[in-house]
Amino acid sequence: MQIAIPAERMAGETRVAATPETVKKWVAMGHAVMIEAGAGALSATPDSAYVAAGAVIAQSRKEVLSHGDIVLKVRPPLADEIAEIKSGAVLIAMLQPYSNPHLPLMAQKKLSAFAMELMPRTTRAQSMDVLSSQNNIAGYRAVLLATHYYPHFMPMLMTAAGTVKPARVLVLGVGVAGLQAIATAKRLGAVVEAFDVRPSTKEQVESLGAKFVEVPMTDEEKAANDGVYAREMSDDYKRRQAELVDKHARQADIIITTALIPGRAAPLLLHADTVLGMKPGSVIIDLAAENGGNCALTQGGEVIQTDNGVTVVGTLNVPGMVAADASSLYARNLFNFMALMLTSDGFSLDLSDELIAATLVAHGGEVRFPAAKPEPVPPQSQPQPKVTDKEFYHG
Ligand code: NAD
Repeated sequence: MQIAIPAERMAGETRVAATPETVKKWVAMGHAVMIEAGAGALSATPDSAYVAAGAVIAQSRKEVLSHGDIVLKVRPPLADEIAEIKSGAVLIAMLQPYSNPHLPLMAQKKLSAFAMELMPRTTRAQSMDVLSSQNNIAGYRAVLLATHYYPHFMPMLMTAAGTVKPARVLVLGVGVAGLQAIATAKRLGAVVEAFDVRPSTKEQVESLGAKFVEVPMTDEEKAANDGVYAREMSDDYKRRQAELVDKHARQADIIITTALIPGRAAPLLLHADTVLGMKPGSVIIDLAAENGGNCALTQGGEVIQTDNGVTVVGTLNVPGMVAADASSLYARNLFNFMALMLTSDGFSLDLSDELIAATLVAHGGEVRFPAAKPEPVPPQSQPQPKVTDKEFYHG
């Protein structure tokens, strides 16, 4: 098979979908790999490293896309890229299926398109779980990003000139990113509190040495949130949550928000009044910025400072700030996933395999992504415009 890796086109996307390590393994299996010139440049992987691993360098996007039986990407392809992909090819990427306007184009091209974000959160799928590999990096990098804007130390220090208090960090949303943010902030010596709508996270937070902030829940609310993913909560719960978050936010020096609900806009956890009640010098890192943000004042892709001196960081693509390792883990996720289908003889698609069935969003000329499609993700407090490629690409 011809495996093709184009360079990413989204502004600020530093990652790449294959590394010399994965290329070498495919070549050893007898497959050919073609990669667009410069595709690894922003993740510290020069073309020469891919050539040494056995890849051929393509000089144009058209060349690489039109050759691939299997096309690997990080971000979803735009319409003009889909037009250049060979009809009937396999496409594997983070396709953002809930908001992607181009799934019908993929079906028209008879692509077998896989959205890696839809990988089930099961033990068998762990090595293919791109949300975990990338959000783990985001949680780590968010804390380092916070230290960049925070005008104090993180740990308690006792110096000849006096004692410095430790930073108080509040983590909102304790999935993969939140847990890594807690662990990283603890390692830097901060005092950490965390909150999540899923009661099962309490034990995980405490096992990392942080304090769990608990919003009282009814038995019904607890039962609704005993799964892997969070549910949209009632207005009454949101009011109780906002009161408690407001109290803890005003005492925090750094807040890292990571809360997401699959297929929906990120829940609003930090209201403007809460931010305006925070201490000068405090910092909010909103990892949900690509999905509308958890903070009312977040501006996607921007760092702003409020009149009361709070820095609100809406930086997008935080995993991409650790481009080499993010690419390396993502490429391994793809390699492991492809191992379900790729043999030295070719490619076989077993639709009865739950991991293949769950991630396949277009196949045989049909869009397979859910019959009852959840709401697309709208930017918070803004009317939802018709999605253009440019807007779609910037989340
Ligand atoms: P996510 O990115 O979907 O969401 C981040 C967190 O935000 C979640 O913990 C969610 O509960 C929380 N959240 C949503 N709405 C909220 C609100 N209103 N207030 C506060 N918090 C809110 O989550 P994720 O990182 O993808 O992880 C989801 C779950 O999957 C975790 O429990 C994780 O441990 C689990 N997981 C399991 C496996 C596996 O078994 N193989 C692999 C990876 C992750």
